[in-house]
Amino acid sequence: MNTALLWEISKPGRIGINLPSRDVPELDEKKHLPDNMVRAAGNGLPEVSEPQVVRHFVELSSKNHHVDKGLYPLGSCTMKYNPKLSERVAAFSGFANLHPFVPEDFAQGALELMFRLGELLCHIGGLDAITLQPSAGAHGEFAGLSIIRRYHEARGNPRKKVVIPDSSHGTNPASIVFSGWQPIEIKSDAAGRIDIDALKPHLDEDLAALMVTNPNTLGIFERDIKKVAEMLHSVGAQLYMDGANMNALLGIVRPGDVGIDALHYNLHKTFSTPHGGGGPGSGPVAVKEHLAPFLPKPTVVHSEDGKYHLNWDVPDSLGKMNAFWGAFGVMVKAFSYIMNAGAEGLRKVAENAVLNSNYLMASLKDDYELPYRSTPMHEFVLSGEFLKKFGVKTLDVAKQLLDFGFHAPTVYFPLIVHEALMIEPTETESIETLDEFIKAMKEIRKMAENEPDRLHEAPKNTPVHRLDEVSANKQPIFKWQDMIET
Ligand SMILES: *Cc1c(COP(=O)(O)O)cnc(C)c1O
Repeated sequence: MNTALLWEISKPGRIGINLPSRDVPELDEKKHLPDNMVRAAGNGLPEVSEPQVVRHFVELSSKNHHVDKGLYPLGSCTMKYNPKLSERVAAFSGFANLHPFVPEDFAQGALELMFRLGELLCHIGGLDAITLQPSAGAHGEFAGLSIIRRYHEARGNPRKKVVIPDSSHGTNPASIVFSGWQPIEIKSDAAGRIDIDALKPHLDEDLAALMVTNPNTLGIFERDIKKVAEMLHSVGAQLYMDGANMNALLGIVRPGDVGIDALHYNLHKTFSTPHGGGGPGSGPVAVKEHLAPFLPKPTVVHSEDGKYHLNWDVPDSLGKMNAFWGAFGVMVKAFSYIMNAGAEGLRKVAENAVLNSNYLMASLKDDYELPYRSTPMHEFVLSGEFLKKFGVKTLDVAKQLLDFGFHAPTVYFPLIVHEALMIEPTETESIETLDEFIKAMKEIRKMAENEPDRLHEAPKNTPVHRLDEVSANKQPIFKWQDMIET
């Protein structure tokens, strides 16, 4: 069904709000505004009643897929259900209406929350100090690498290169370049892990760090992480961890205990903030003691007088990384989420995320290809390469899933798997939902063989059907006017 646009149902004189009568003189546009700002015609706003507006937006909200509507197994993104409690807490007026320039004395609650969230995140990661400033995972990577750069500079040699495995997320090489280094890609071994032998030739005084995602983007745990850390440290290099996949480790492995020097969290992924629409996110960076002097400032401190302060007196700090103090609303949600779960709850999150993923993997591995056979953690990667013999691509599988009411998994990433389907169910899905997804995937497998053309035409049940993805990305239409012109 096509949604009527508000402009189309507009009727002159129909109004949806009651405003008190004006108690100031009417503005004479011609007299008070520069010529180029005076409207030639009316403002063109739709004239509609309140119920019409409400129905319009409720309907629009149901057109997109979202996690409150159904499974969203978008690998690497950790699209778990976001508890409404956290939204409620973040909306408390003392948090939501706090002015960023409010004097510290009037913001003690907010500062305490930031301080305690920092302590919790340090504890969860087995690290010593933290900045909450970065706005997202990618921003955290840049912050973390910049901290490492300062550290090397302070020791007299900024070094030249950073090693990444070929399974790494695209933001990793980008952050390395932005931090002034050259990214060096090494091949993963047959099991999908860092290949120690491929790392060895790069171990020298020019190596600044290795960036690793653990579990990596194949969903596989880097078992040799301690050994990798020792090898790096033996030449003075640092081990940076992309913590986007911390959902698999909560309460089980503390990265700091296995040799990680710096780590970013994606609060919006692991600690549950809605992030399907592109933000807001938060990417705190936790580090070991030796990197603490270089953290962005201000840091949040708890002083002897019992008060919380923003500390600007950090002489070796790399500076400020964000407007004001970071994405405070996301911090509130993460704090609420962690306090609500408790230590045992967080461990259960990881256990169930891994269990759900393994249940899906075991149920689907015979219908699709599983290129890396190591036991996955919270996500796993299938390949649709074998479907090519039916003239079907991974993209077609993804589109058909939309028709079955599921969001598609991540496709064509990681790059080392051809026709990749990267599936991350998260811990918040019930076994009934997982079974429905398995049924849909098996059905699609049969369709590929028997009626491939149906897959090519999917999706048919969604508000828009198959899009030309290139022009949808390069020339998106956001405005009603543009739709009429095209
Ligand atoms: C999501 C993700 C990132 C980037 O995080 P953003 O918060 O989107 O900037 C980096 N690495 C991995 C493995 C990710 O999944």
